[in-house]
Amino acid sequence: MPTIDTDVTIIGAGPAGLCLARALSGTGLRVAVLERETETALRAPAFDGREIALTQRSVRLLQRLDLWSRLPTDERHPLHEARVFNGASRDALHVGRRFAGAEPLGWLVPNHAIRSAAFECVADASDIELHAGVCVSAVETDAANARVRLEDGRVFASRLLVAADGRFSETRRALGIATRMHDFGRVMLVCRVTHERPHDDIAWEWFDHGQTLARLPLGRAAPDGRRGSVVLTLPVTQMRAVQALDDAAFASEIARRFDGRLGTVSEVGERRIYPLVGAWATCFAATRAALLGDAAVGMHPVTAHGFNLGLLGVERLAEELRTAAASHADPGAPALLARYDRVQRRASAPLHLATRGIVGLFTDDRPPARVLRAGVLRASASFAPFRRLLAAMLADRGPVGSRVTGRRDCPEQDDGRPRKADRW
Ligand SMILES: Cc1cc2nc3c(=O)[nH]c(=O)nc-3n(C[C@H](O)[C@H](O)[C@H](O)COP(=O)(O)OP(=O)(O)OC[C@H]3O[C@@H](n4cnc5c(N)ncnc54)[C@H](O)[C@@H]3O)c2cc1C
Repeated sequence: MPTIDTDVTIIGAGPAGLCLARALSGTGLRVAVLERETETALRAPAFDGREIALTQRSVRLLQRLDLWSRLPTDERHPLHEARVFNGASRDALHVGRRFAGAEPLGWLVPNHAIRSAAFECVADASDIELHAGVCVSAVETDAANARVRLEDGRVFASRLLVAADGRFSETRRALGIATRMHDFGRVMLVCRVTHERPHDDIAWEWFDHGQTLARLPLGRAAPDGRRGSVVLTLPVTQMRAVQALDDAAFASEIARRFDGRLGTVSEVGERRIYPLVGAWATCFAATRAALLGDAAVGMHPVTAHGFNLGLLGVERLAEELRTAAASHADPGAPALLARYDRVQRRASAPLHLATRGIVGLFTDDRPPARVLRAGVLRASASFAPFRRLLAAMLADRGPVGSRVTGRRDCPEQDDGRPRKADRW
């Protein structure tokens, strides 16, 4: 079997891997994407229940990648405000304000639609090779190149390997990158429903006692706005009973769990359940390799930032590689990878840490934590600068395509890895 030479090999044609491939189209780099799912599954991904909240910055990047316009307009749902509730209280922390004609905080788009639009983008780019339905049997890297061996005997040799194969990344493990996995001990159920009370383009996050609930608005507020995605987080033992209910009983159960705030619930869609496991790779780069998307950091969905962080990584890595390609430099150079590692980890760490903190505090039902939860929310609600900061974080209107601003003289180990590993 022949060795196939490329500049960049990406393992994983999920949203992050496909977006990076598309961002590299036209740079002159030879890019190969390897994916274990079949091409049929990539072309028309099944509905998976995830409604992805995208920041304005992510939307602008997707526009530049020519992906946004490929999303069906009736699957782009504006999000104007988020409200956070705690326990039995009906008082909420309001994030974002609604002015007539104002730009929304962000947009909700179903994950399967993002995946299918990303696939189209890559399929349309003649300089990207997509190999679907393949099975990786070995990954090796050294100072000269990265080699990916497939079970069919083919070997892809490239100057840079990108692991974009999700939070349980086998490529990351093969590269020897240590990862802190955190099992939150709960599962999350997502399901589209129709609810009696209109949503007004407002998302709810409700840290109730014994359960966490969310309602994400789907469709425009006017003229109807009664379609939403409900998100229920419970320990797995309790979720089994909810999942066993038929649609009518499930609808009543959801209406009850929301304490009547949705009104009656009907037209229950497909239910999907996700285990809540976070991942934090101690390095986002290694010799001739970089981690991207959930392979680098797998977030708890409560702050809705996993894919947004993945896109930030796409933006940063693509910018580095574009610059390298323009000057015929090595796309897998240790200094380039160390910069990507440092800048992307710095951007991810505060969000990752904050998300862990929020989940830890707001799912702790012990009496002292309940008091603290109520206090934190009350203080946040009455402190306008904090609310503005939260809104800015949710919308992230930062620049797209801006140059990487990290220092250029990153200290490295002999193998090109950054010296410091994170301590958490
Ligand atoms: C319920 C839920 C709600 C969420 N909501 C939000 C939100 O509101 N906002 C947000 O920003 N994020 C959200 N996320 C996170 C978001 O879905 C992920 O961050 C994103 O999908 C990760 O994309 P990825 O491409 O990195 O990984 P994945 O989507 O996991 O894709 C990895 C790809 O790699 C392939 N692969 C795996 N192993 C191999 C292998 N060995 N060889 C070849 N291919 C392989 C897989 O088949 C897959 O196609 C949510 C997640 C969940 C579970």
